[in-house]
Amino acid sequence: SYRSDGDTGGTSQLDLEWRKQPVEERLQHALVKGINSYIEADAEEARQQVQRPIEVIEGPLMDGMNIVGDLFGSGKMFLPQVVKSARVMKQAVAYLQPWIEREKVEASGSNGRILLATVKGDVHDIGKNIVGVVLQCNNFEIIDLGVMVHCEEILRVAVERQVDVVGLSGLITPSLDEMVHVASEMQRQGFQLPLLIGGATTSKAHTAVKIEPAYANGATVYVSDASRSVAVASQILGDGKAEFLQSRRSEYAAVRQRIENRPSRSAPLRYEQAIQRGLRTDWGDYRPPQPGFYGTRVETDYPLESLLGTIDWTPFFVTWELAGRYPDILEDEVVGAAARQLFDDAQAMLRRIIDEQWLSARACFGFWPARQVAADDIELYVDQRCTQVVATLHQLRQQTQRPDGKPNLSLADFVAPRGAGVEDTVGAFVVSTGHGLQQRVAAYEADHDDYSSILLKALADRLAEAYAEQLHLRIRREFWGYAADENLSNQELIREKYRGIRPAPGYPACPDHSEKVTLFRLLDASARIGVELTENFAMTPAAAVSGYYFSHPQARYFAVGKIGRDQVGSLANRKDVPVSELERWLRPNLDYEP
Ligand code: SAH
Repeated sequence: SYRSDGDTGGTSQLDLEWRKQPVEERLQHALVKGINSYIEADAEEARQQVQRPIEVIEGPLMDGMNIVGDLFGSGKMFLPQVVKSARVMKQAVAYLQPWIEREKVEASGSNGRILLATVKGDVHDIGKNIVGVVLQCNNFEIIDLGVMVHCEEILRVAVERQVDVVGLSGLITPSLDEMVHVASEMQRQGFQLPLLIGGATTSKAHTAVKIEPAYANGATVYVSDASRSVAVASQILGDGKAEFLQSRRSEYAAVRQRIENRPSRSAPLRYEQAIQRGLRTDWGDYRPPQPGFYGTRVETDYPLESLLGTIDWTPFFVTWELAGRYPDILEDEVVGAAARQLFDDAQAMLRRIIDEQWLSARACFGFWPARQVAADDIELYVDQRCTQVVATLHQLRQQTQRPDGKPNLSLADFVAPRGAGVEDTVGAFVVSTGHGLQQRVAAYEADHDDYSSILLKALADRLAEAYAEQLHLRIRREFWGYAADENLSNQELIREKYRGIRPAPGYPACPDHSEKVTLFRLLDASARIGVELTENFAMTPAAAVSGYYFSHPQARYFAVGKIGRDQVGSLANRKDVPVSELERWLRPNLDYEP
């Protein structure tokens, strides 16, 4: 069993006074403090004192959870602590389960039944799982369909299980469109259930403009973070439902109005014009660095231990909805105690991940002779004679009017044009630390331990980012070698104080997720390190990072922003795909309605 000792909290470890109290008090204390060390013994003792075992749940356990809910609602408890409390609750319920007739538990006053799913083509579920836990704490029944769930499956289960609410989650941009699809299917099939929308790329604006109008007969509500989910669900399923939904409707209508009334952005430049205004680089004097090898390399068991110093901890706290920068967050007046406890738990789990080899870190990376062609394509070749093309990386160019004579950038601008007589190079990589994860996660879930399961996934993500950072460092110092003397602190690495960039397909400088197909083919990432792409180009396992390497001193991140029909047409031609397909992947970047 991987059950961990929840009682790792500072003084409470030593302070066992609370163990002398009556069992009801102890159960409550354990819940509020998130201590699971004695939960089965206490649940057993409490069970022997009541007539029906269900009374233990309906009495002290529910009382404890109500306190947790109140403390969370009033900002005196934070997400990691709530998830820990939920673990105590779930483990107690699981212990009592054999004594309780199943019907009674389900019937025992659930606040409502909520279906949760990460949509088709998306594999990210940390946020969704947190929402599920928080809602369960508040006595909502959760049916979690997992990740990559097709619309038909979501709607079938919604009907069969007579759910009260459907909640959709997603992280990558193609998921936005998939959510619109689910909404329009709900409309078409005559659903009226409330629809909740959440996840990193979702927004109130997108919900108001795209999703709600697709589901006019129902009610759509954007949930900005997990801590909001309880309030939203309670209102949707409570007495004030009609007013709540009406106020959301007016709010979203106002958002649509505001967006419509925005002083219309100046139309994009013609694509041709944008190309004219690209970055002017003097290639005449430029001698690009030559890498130590061309082609690809694979690493299958990079030591996890060596990644610890490169971890960027701030996003880890963001995942748990604790606001503040690491390391200052550990001393923060408001969230400091919760952050320290979480950080201690993370260190303990990292130790086990490393010592017991829970995860394996794998990478493939490579370099190819490269030239800019046709303005926005980058051709990769077998060798510097540039006769045999291995792949073409299609890039997008900023097409809106730039202020102060700033250039209209494309990643292709950072590569020497073909014919300039400059021997340039582009690199690419995929790293993953997600192998081995699923087995541990399953064990935690079997043990009703969402806290550890979410913690492990969040740490795997951190390790993947740390590996990407460290591999990039080794690329600059060794493999490409143009910064052999570089010696930056982790803070400086996080702030990207080095020469060169590693833009990731799907991010603002290269928003076309479908380009990952080329990158994965180049590196043969599926066969060599077992990282695959879903139908919507999410990487799986989810703890994975990919990107290109550019070394030009002027290379930097930017956002492509809105593009016009002419650029989409050109790109469709160059990629040899139908315009409509491209428009689907680039929807958030289109300056027009397709
Ligand atoms: N230290 C962070 C790193 C992730 S965010 C962490 O541990 O989570 C920074 C990365 O996002 C960059 O290395 C790059 O791969 C990607 N990125 C950021 N802005 C980008 C942009 N505008 N275009 C393309 N990729 C971008």
